[in-house]
Amino acid sequence: MPAIALKPGKHRRLVAGHCWVYAGEIAAISADARDGDTVEILDHRKRSLGVGLLNRNSQIVVRRFAAHKVELDKDFFRRRLQAAAALRPTGDAQRLVFSEGDQLPGLILDKFGENLVLQALTLGIDQRKAMLAELACELFQPKAIIERSDVPTRKLEGLAESKGVLFGESDGNATVRVGGVRFAVHLLDDQKTGFFLDQADNYADIAHRCAGKRVLDCFSYHGGFALCAAQAGAASVEAVEISEVAVARARQNAELNGLPGKIEFVCANAFDTLKKYDAEKRQFDVIVLDPPTFTRTKQHVDDALRGYKEINLRALKMLSPGGLLATFTCSHHIRAELLREVVMDAAADARKMVRLVKPLAQSPDHPILLGVPETEYLKGLLLEVVA
Ligand code: SAH
Repeated sequence: MPAIALKPGKHRRLVAGHCWVYAGEIAAISADARDGDTVEILDHRKRSLGVGLLNRNSQIVVRRFAAHKVELDKDFFRRRLQAAAALRPTGDAQRLVFSEGDQLPGLILDKFGENLVLQALTLGIDQRKAMLAELACELFQPKAIIERSDVPTRKLEGLAESKGVLFGESDGNATVRVGGVRFAVHLLDDQKTGFFLDQADNYADIAHRCAGKRVLDCFSYHGGFALCAAQAGAASVEAVEISEVAVARARQNAELNGLPGKIEFVCANAFDTLKKYDAEKRQFDVIVLDPPTFTRTKQHVDDALRGYKEINLRALKMLSPGGLLATFTCSHHIRAELLREVVMDAAADARKMVRLVKPLAQSPDHPILLGVPETEYLKGLLLEVVA
């Protein structure tokens, strides 16, 4: 097996449980190693740190798949897929494989009813797509496997974007049940792999607190929180989302669940809507803030914090005593403590005291590896405005 040797001291992140090896950490790469190949990772004293897949075109030259020496063959991937499946109770819509979180760096595999959606984020996984699709058929018997490798980060791996049907037949349409609500998704056209599965468990958690309440769901995409709140008997629900396509899908979902008329869909920039409603002194009992990531890099954290502060401030101003704020960040660079600080700042400016009802997180089918902090990306707080 070809190998890479690390520079002195550069073994520490791997020993601590991370799985990435950066270009600058490598002293030598076997001459016979091709990009995409399995390589053994050796420290500067030639001690093995396990095996990973190589890509010299990426800043992350090796992603480790196992901390011991093992062939990364079809049997290996079958075992890893089985282990990932064993972690999850069966569900209608769920993430079956969460990349590093399931020790399968670069692979996302989502289940939407009878369909699977595969995303290959790295060269190593891209080269093994056919084999992975075969294994997925063997283990999960899907009707179709759709590929959604249309993500810009593939450029960092020297890969073009790609999407289509890998196996079976599908026009992309699927209907799934999440938190007691039915959602129509288009697996070829919708954002990400079709749906924000990471919020699935939070829908029910927030919804059961919405009966009889005035609810505002900001950055609502297909209306996940809004629909679940309406289904749970909210007095009124407003959903604000900037994408027309997403709003259209959310309306379709409202009809699908017999909820049309119960939710007001607003296609607008949520920053503007929050500002306007705040100026109009509108009041709500429950507000959800689930914005897209405002920063993909460390350099933009300050700008992002200003964004989080603004929306949280406006939301808190519109909540009366007893009101609930469910606020999220999906940026890996905004740690949980930082979100808490921003919200405290916003609460102080809004002259509101807030109680932590509970911290919120990504659904458990997005497992977090403590050694790989990047696997923990969705953090939230459920707060109650105290009298
Ligand atoms: N809460 C949603 C997921 C939100 S993802 C769910 O549970 O499914 C973030 C959403 O914010 C995306 O749908 C995106 O289109 C939308 N968005 C991005 N910028 C926005 C803005 N300025 N105002 C309103 N929506 C925005």
